[in-house]
Amino acid sequence: AQMREERIDKTKTVCTYCGVGCSFDVWTKGREILKIEPRSEAPANGVSTCVKGKFGWDFVNSEERLKKPLIREGDAFREAEWEEALDLIESKFTATLKGKGPDALAFISSSKCTNEESYLMQKLGRGVIGTNNIDNCSRYCQSPATMGLWRTVGYGGDSGSITDIAQAELVISIGSNTAESHPVLATRVKRAQKLHGQKVIVADLREHELANRADLFVRPAPGSDLVWLSAVTKYIIDKGWHDRAFLRDHVNDVDAYFASLDKYTLDYASEVTGMTKKELISIATSIHEAKSTSILWAMGVTQHGGGSDTSTAISNLLLVTGNYMKPGAGSYPLRGHNNVQGASDFGSMPDRFPGYQFVSDDAVRARFEKSWGTEIPTKPGLNNHEMVDAIHDGDLEVLYLKGEDMGIVDSNLNHVHSAYEKLKFFVVQDIFFSKTCEYADVVLPASPSLEKDGTFVNTERRFQRLYKVMDPLGDSKPDWQIITEIANRMGADWNYAHPSEIMDEAASLTPLFAGVSYDRLEGYDSLQWPVAEDGTDTPLLFEKEFPLPGGKARLWPVEWTKPLEFESEYDLHVNNGRLLEHFHEGNLTYKSEGITAKTPEVFLEVSPDLAKERKIEDGTKVRLTSPYGSVKVSCIVTDRVFGNQLYLPMNSSGEGVINYLTSSHADKDTDTPAYKEVSVKMEVLEPK
Ligand code: SF4
Repeated sequence: AQMREERIDKTKTVCTYCGVGCSFDVWTKGREILKIEPRSEAPANGVSTCVKGKFGWDFVNSEERLKKPLIREGDAFREAEWEEALDLIESKFTATLKGKGPDALAFISSSKCTNEESYLMQKLGRGVIGTNNIDNCSRYCQSPATMGLWRTVGYGGDSGSITDIAQAELVISIGSNTAESHPVLATRVKRAQKLHGQKVIVADLREHELANRADLFVRPAPGSDLVWLSAVTKYIIDKGWHDRAFLRDHVNDVDAYFASLDKYTLDYASEVTGMTKKELISIATSIHEAKSTSILWAMGVTQHGGGSDTSTAISNLLLVTGNYMKPGAGSYPLRGHNNVQGASDFGSMPDRFPGYQFVSDDAVRARFEKSWGTEIPTKPGLNNHEMVDAIHDGDLEVLYLKGEDMGIVDSNLNHVHSAYEKLKFFVVQDIFFSKTCEYADVVLPASPSLEKDGTFVNTERRFQRLYKVMDPLGDSKPDWQIITEIANRMGADWNYAHPSEIMDEAASLTPLFAGVSYDRLEGYDSLQWPVAEDGTDTPLLFEKEFPLPGGKARLWPVEWTKPLEFESEYDLHVNNGRLLEHFHEGNLTYKSEGITAKTPEVFLEVSPDLAKERKIEDGTKVRLTSPYGSVKVSCIVTDRVFGNQLYLPMNSSGEGVINYLTSSHADKDTDTPAYKEVSVKMEVLEPK
């Protein structure tokens, strides 16, 4: 929409917060945001939004926005012009390339940025610099879910749409605080419960809103989900309730998998998880009785040492019961950030090009090399987690990071911060001076979603366009333009006039998105991948076959990995997750007045039993200490948590940052930090 100070413009955008991907019109007058108007044609949300989508936009005009590049001088930063900042980047990148080679540089893309920007970031790393050291923050959340799905069904995406979840007869939610983390999606479930008696089972540590509304709420011991999932699957098979026809026609490796379940008896599962046999049988019976079951899961499953295996166990259960290939059924790993799906879809991964094509595949690499006119290395690069270790080891010297506050969101922060201090050159590109910027040598001012065109992919694999609502603030620029300027300084000759040209190039190289174009995404139109060349998209991901050898899915045996064990003095387990009002480290929401007025800071949830034992009341300040660091927080006493379980929202950038407590322990298959495996001792500082 054309900006004119004197009139009201209405421009379609897509929410910049969670992966539900709500779209709506933004009403603006100049830079002033007047209101958010959801429209019935919005595919993911219709006329619904949550508090963040509706009121979480003040940050765009915040006084604290970065308006000019910053260059470090000693312990301080000074403002600079773009030319000077880009000169410095060019000279440092070039010197490192000459001195240590391309693998001494690494690139981290952002799940807040557009698909086009993620595409360019990996093109810069691979095609211009010559390294596959490129990753994005799905490494911190949903990579294990993607791994579990790749193993079993071949695609790492939701099986259907949010409307499928709504029409399921049974929804099982595991390790997901859906009502606060994916509010509009949770509303669909709540409505389905009311309107057509949808049954809901919740497995979680904390009695959150959806748990409260569930038909059955179970509290398995931390990190034990794989055990109860496998026991339920075994019980279903023992009862003869498995879907024989589906297994015969669509699934391989059935016998080996069935044999692998021997030890997952109800007795064993009960002993490990603390769940009763009655609860286990009730879950199995509910799945048997429902015509369609959808399973939703999130970080409570994935952020463990065995996160990929537990995700695999979920998919195994769905395969055994024939809960794929039909509406209302399937697996739904709920994506966290607005474009965390797209960041991986568009190749910001150390071993995959866009569309999950392997870097090690000669034919694929040749296609990209031909289009880009460069050579691309065969060897997969480092993931985020490995990058930190490589910096400590002296192998990685330069990091270019956009749109992520890794200095708060990465696990074991003291270890991460000391790595950043060792970097020879660190470029951080963001819209605010984040915690991570404190370690940078150059800070580049980027533009948020409202100041650019582009596309996002939501949790349903749905491409949606966002339109530029207003011009970039000050000297800030859209990330795709900044990456282009850096690439061209490093010898490329990119001439993208508009993000649609970037999408055209990406689609031409990526069979999964072959038919994606801006024309087909006009206004509220959307496409769910895979998208064929003629523009046919795929709301139901698996219709006739699975994208695996012989068109068949695979049952994949998994073993339970015990959660990290702590010395007995660390006697309290800290669960962590989101708050409805805030988003992640809060860089955006703490700058939105409408939201901070309601929730100014995070608090530690303490159970009534523990509060009584330790003489804690609402407002009591405590210090939590793990083997890796400590934090100070105020408490509230609530029966949402139970026994020695604590809950600390991750949405703090103040004294309560959870990641001073978390370790470097990670999922063994994807290196996703085991954020949920943390135990602490607690010291009461200011009893009331
Ligand atoms: Fe935005 Fe998610 Fe809220 Fe929708 S549910 S408005 S996408 S934060």
